[in-house]
Amino acid sequence: MPVHCADSLVLRTFAYGEADRIVVFLTADRGKKRGVAKNASRSRRRFGAALEPLTRGRATYVEREGRELVRLDRVEPSGTPLQGIASVPVEEAARRLGHALYFAELLDEWAPNDAPNERLYRLGAAAARALEAAEGSVETLARYVEIWILRLEGVYPSIERCARCSAVFGGPVRLSRIDRGYVCRQCRPDGPVISREAMELLRLLPARSPDEAVRIGSPAAALRELEMAHRILMAEHLDKPLRSARVIRELGSSL
Ligand SMILES: [Zn+2]
Repeated sequence: MPVHCADSLVLRTFAYGEADRIVVFLTADRGKKRGVAKNASRSRRRFGAALEPLTRGRATYVEREGRELVRLDRVEPSGTPLQGIASVPVEEAARRLGHALYFAELLDEWAPNDAPNERLYRLGAAAARALEAAEGSVETLARYVEIWILRLEGVYPSIERCARCSAVFGGPVRLSRIDRGYVCRQCRPDGPVISREAMELLRLLPARSPDEAVRIGSPAAALRELEMAHRILMAEHLDKPLRSARVIRELGSSL
């Protein structure tokens, strides 16, 4: 049976039988895998904190012929979202862990099973690193990750021209659900407005690294507009809303 060892990101885990856990993880070289981690629920000795969502690490796993589930033997973590949170206020810690879950869920939704997607892996790993350091705005990082996931899928709409009449944008625009894109205000009298500041951020963010993105001071209102626009765009493409996005919103309103 072939043994594989790869840089990986843990996406999520769930209980499997009495003592085992199923671990969904994204490998750098062979796409998304599901593996059984023996005894991971009963004993934390083997895996420790290495199975937290968005943990980066080296995973050793064995593929078994004719079986969809691999056997996950080991994850040697090189970084987890848990590191560094002991030294920040509890609200900030909750925000980071909430976003770790959110990024992991986004990657899980968009990564195909067993098909390599190196760029998606690199985005996830870089976002995880930026979140661990998180010196700045986790919300800006979240908008960055959303933009890039949609771009890598080839579905991020044009920020230069109206999706309906092709006019070049010169100011605030609207998001049109039917067009799955941004349109000029002449083309749509209603729908969420995306301000000039938010459009500016859309032009600025993709050219940066996640580390730089997290340090960009973005206006809170612009971030909220983009959060809503991206939620609509992603739901249109995934045909469902994401669980952890709602958790973050609830967290935000209770802080
Ligand atoms: Zn138009």
